[in-house]
Amino acid sequence: MPRHWIFDLDGTLTRAVHDFDLLRRELGLPAGQPLLEAIAERPASEAAALHVRLDALEADYVSATGPAPGALELLEHLRAHGAHLGILTRNSRANAQATLAHCELAAFFDPAHVIGRDEAEPKPSPAGIRSLLDSWGGRPDDAVMLGDFRYDLLAGRAAGVSTVSVDPSGQHPWRELADRCVNSLAELLDGR
Ligand SMILES: [Mg+2]
Repeated sequence: MPRHWIFDLDGTLTRAVHDFDLLRRELGLPAGQPLLEAIAERPASEAAALHVRLDALEADYVSATGPAPGALELLEHLRAHGAHLGILTRNSRANAQATLAHCELAAFFDPAHVIGRDEAEPKPSPAGIRSLLDSWGGRPDDAVMLGDFRYDLLAGRAAGVSTVSVDPSGQHPWRELADRCVNSLAELLDGR
Protein backbone atom coordinates (compact mmCIF):
# COMPACT_ATOMS: atom_id res chain seq x y z
CA MET A 1 0.00 0.00 0.00
CA PRO A 2 1.40 3.47 -0.85
CA ARG A 3 2.29 5.65 2.14
CA HIS A 4 1.15 8.96 0.61
CA TRP A 5 -2.44 9.43 -0.60
CA ILE A 6 -3.48 12.61 -2.42
CA PHE A 7 -7.15 13.07 -3.20
CA ASP A 8 -9.04 15.37 -5.47
CA LEU A 9 -11.97 16.65 -3.39
CA ASP A 10 -15.08 17.48 -5.43
CA GLY A 11 -16.52 14.40 -7.09
CA THR A 12 -13.84 12.12 -5.60
CA LEU A 13 -14.12 12.29 -1.81
CA THR A 14 -17.53 13.93 -2.22
CA ARG A 15 -20.49 13.28 -4.44
CA ALA A 16 -20.18 15.30 -7.67
CA VAL A 17 -22.48 18.33 -7.62
CA HIS A 18 -20.63 21.05 -9.55
CA ASP A 19 -22.28 22.22 -12.76
CA PHE A 20 -19.29 23.71 -14.57
CA ASP A 21 -21.33 24.76 -17.62
CA LEU A 22 -23.63 26.75 -15.33
CA LEU A 23 -20.63 28.31 -13.54
CA ARG A 24 -19.15 29.36 -16.89
CA ARG A 25 -22.46 30.95 -17.92
CA GLU A 26 -22.83 32.78 -14.60
CA LEU A 27 -19.30 34.16 -14.92
CA GLY A 28 -19.67 35.04 -18.60
CA LEU A 29 -16.84 32.70 -19.59
CA PRO A 30 -16.66 30.75 -22.86
CA ALA A 31 -18.22 27.30 -23.02
CA GLY A 32 -15.93 24.33 -22.93
CA GLN A 33 -12.89 26.10 -21.49
CA PRO A 34 -11.58 25.24 -18.00
CA LEU A 35 -12.66 27.90 -15.49
CA LEU A 36 -9.34 28.86 -13.93
CA GLU A 37 -7.54 29.06 -17.26
CA ALA A 38 -10.37 31.14 -18.79
CA ILE A 39 -10.21 33.58 -15.87
CA ALA A 40 -6.43 33.80 -16.15
CA GLU A 41 -6.76 35.09 -19.71
CA ARG A 42 -8.74 38.15 -18.54
CA PRO A 43 -7.14 41.45 -17.51
CA ALA A 44 -5.94 41.38 -13.90
CA SER A 45 -8.68 43.57 -12.42
CA GLU A 46 -11.42 41.59 -14.15
CA ALA A 47 -9.79 38.30 -13.18
CA ALA A 48 -9.70 39.34 -9.52
CA ALA A 49 -13.41 40.13 -9.59
CA LEU A 50 -14.17 36.84 -11.32
CA HIS A 51 -12.26 34.93 -8.64
CA VAL A 52 -14.30 36.62 -5.91
CA ARG A 53 -17.49 35.67 -7.76
CA LEU A 54 -16.28 32.10 -8.36
CA ASP A 55 -15.45 31.68 -4.67
CA ALA A 56 -18.99 32.78 -3.82
CA LEU A 57 -20.64 30.55 -6.42
CA GLU A 58 -18.61 27.53 -5.34
CA ALA A 59 -19.46 28.20 -1.70
CA ASP A 60 -23.09 27.52 -2.67
CA TYR A 61 -22.13 23.94 -3.52
CA VAL A 62 -20.66 23.19 -0.10
CA SER A 63 -23.91 22.24 1.60
CA ALA A 64 -25.25 20.48 -1.51
CA THR A 65 -22.79 17.61 -1.40
CA GLY A 66 -21.94 14.76 0.94
CA PRO A 67 -19.20 12.19 1.34
CA ALA A 68 -18.72 9.79 -1.55
CA PRO A 69 -19.64 6.17 -0.87
CA GLY A 70 -16.73 4.48 0.87
CA ALA A 71 -14.85 7.74 1.58
CA LEU A 72 -15.16 7.57 5.36
CA GLU A 73 -14.24 3.87 5.50
CA LEU A 74 -11.22 4.31 3.23
CA LEU A 75 -9.90 7.32 5.16
CA GLU A 76 -10.34 5.51 8.47
CA HIS A 77 -8.47 2.51 7.05
CA LEU A 78 -5.63 4.66 5.70
CA ARG A 79 -5.29 6.64 8.92
CA ALA A 80 -5.19 3.43 10.94
CA HIS A 81 -2.32 2.24 8.73
CA GLY A 82 -0.33 5.45 9.15
CA ALA A 83 -0.78 6.80 5.63
CA HIS A 84 -0.24 10.48 4.90
CA LEU A 85 -3.44 12.10 3.60
CA GLY A 86 -3.68 15.23 1.46
CA ILE A 87 -6.14 17.09 -0.74
CA LEU A 88 -5.29 18.74 -4.06
CA THR A 89 -8.20 20.76 -5.44
CA ARG A 90 -8.82 23.44 -8.04
CA ASN A 91 -11.36 24.86 -5.57
CA SER A 92 -10.22 27.40 -2.97
CA ARG A 93 -8.73 26.12 0.29
CA ALA A 94 -11.50 27.87 2.24
CA ASN A 95 -14.24 26.15 0.22
CA ALA A 96 -12.39 22.85 0.47
CA GLN A 97 -12.20 23.12 4.26
CA ALA A 98 -15.89 24.03 4.44
CA THR A 99 -16.75 21.05 2.22
CA LEU A 100 -14.66 18.68 4.34
CA ALA A 101 -16.37 19.99 7.48
CA HIS A 102 -19.83 19.62 5.95
CA CYS A 103 -19.00 16.03 4.94
CA GLU A 104 -17.52 15.30 8.39
CA LEU A 105 -14.18 14.40 6.80
CA ALA A 106 -12.14 17.38 8.05
CA ALA A 107 -10.54 15.47 10.94
CA PHE A 108 -8.56 13.33 8.48
CA PHE A 109 -6.65 16.23 6.94
CA ASP A 110 -4.12 18.65 8.40
CA PRO A 111 -5.21 22.03 6.96
CA ALA A 112 -1.62 22.53 5.74
CA HIS A 113 -2.13 19.47 3.54
CA VAL A 114 -5.24 20.84 1.84
CA ILE A 115 -3.83 22.49 -1.28
CA GLY A 116 -6.22 24.79 -3.13
CA ARG A 117 -5.88 26.85 -6.26
CA ASP A 118 -4.01 29.61 -4.42
CA GLU A 119 -1.51 27.38 -2.59
CA ALA A 120 0.06 25.84 -5.72
CA GLU A 121 -0.26 26.08 -9.48
CA PRO A 122 -3.58 24.29 -10.16
CA LYS A 123 -3.84 20.82 -11.69
CA PRO A 124 -2.93 19.60 -14.28
CA SER A 125 0.31 21.06 -12.87
CA PRO A 126 2.07 18.56 -10.58
CA ALA A 127 3.17 21.42 -8.28
CA GLY A 128 0.70 20.60 -5.50
CA ILE A 129 1.63 16.92 -5.47
CA ARG A 130 5.33 17.81 -5.28
CA SER A 131 4.62 20.27 -2.46
CA LEU A 132 2.78 17.62 -0.43
CA LEU A 133 5.48 15.00 -1.00
CA ASP A 134 8.14 17.52 0.03
CA SER A 135 6.30 18.25 3.27
CA TRP A 136 6.07 14.52 4.01
CA GLY A 137 9.58 13.68 2.85
CA GLY A 138 7.96 11.19 0.48
CA ARG A 139 8.91 9.73 -2.87
CA PRO A 140 6.65 9.68 -5.95
CA ASP A 141 6.91 5.90 -6.22
CA ASP A 142 5.31 5.60 -2.78
CA ALA A 143 2.39 7.91 -3.60
CA VAL A 144 -0.96 7.85 -5.34
CA MET A 145 -3.21 10.59 -6.80
CA LEU A 146 -6.93 9.83 -6.97
CA GLY A 147 -9.49 11.80 -8.94
CA ASP A 148 -12.56 11.92 -11.14
CA PHE A 149 -11.24 14.27 -13.83
CA ARG A 150 -8.54 14.24 -16.48
CA TYR A 151 -6.54 16.97 -14.73
CA ASP A 152 -6.22 14.85 -11.57
CA LEU A 153 -4.70 12.01 -13.55
CA LEU A 154 -2.50 14.29 -15.67
CA ALA A 155 -1.12 15.92 -12.51
CA GLY A 156 -0.38 12.49 -11.06
CA ARG A 157 1.35 11.32 -14.22
CA ALA A 158 3.43 14.53 -14.39
CA ALA A 159 4.49 14.06 -10.76
CA GLY A 160 5.43 10.42 -11.34
CA VAL A 161 2.97 9.01 -8.80
CA SER A 162 0.48 6.23 -9.46
CA THR A 163 -2.99 7.33 -10.53
CA VAL A 164 -6.49 6.11 -9.72
CA SER A 165 -9.56 7.09 -11.74
CA VAL A 166 -12.67 7.27 -9.54
CA ASP A 167 -15.91 7.20 -11.54
CA PRO A 168 -19.22 6.01 -10.04
CA SER A 169 -20.60 5.64 -13.58
CA GLY A 170 -17.88 3.13 -14.40
CA GLN A 171 -17.12 4.87 -17.69
CA HIS A 172 -13.59 6.10 -16.82
CA PRO A 173 -13.21 8.36 -19.88
CA TRP A 174 -9.50 8.94 -19.11
CA ARG A 175 -8.56 5.37 -18.31
CA GLU A 176 -5.40 5.61 -20.41
CA LEU A 177 -4.07 8.02 -17.75
CA ALA A 178 -4.96 5.74 -14.84
CA ASP A 179 -3.02 2.89 -13.27
CA ARG A 180 -6.24 1.71 -11.68
CA CYS A 181 -9.94 2.43 -12.23
CA VAL A 182 -12.47 2.11 -9.41
CA ASN A 183 -16.18 2.83 -9.43
CA SER A 184 -16.15 3.49 -5.67
CA LEU A 185 -13.52 4.32 -3.08
CA ALA A 186 -14.71 1.23 -1.22
CA GLU A 187 -12.96 -0.89 -3.87
CA LEU A 188 -9.61 0.36 -2.55
CA LEU A 189 -10.06 -1.24 0.86
CA ASP A 190 -7.94 -4.32 1.45
CA GLY A 191 -9.32 -7.51 0.06
CA ARG A 192 -11.68 -5.88 -2.42
MG1 LIG B 1 -13.14 16.40 -9.11
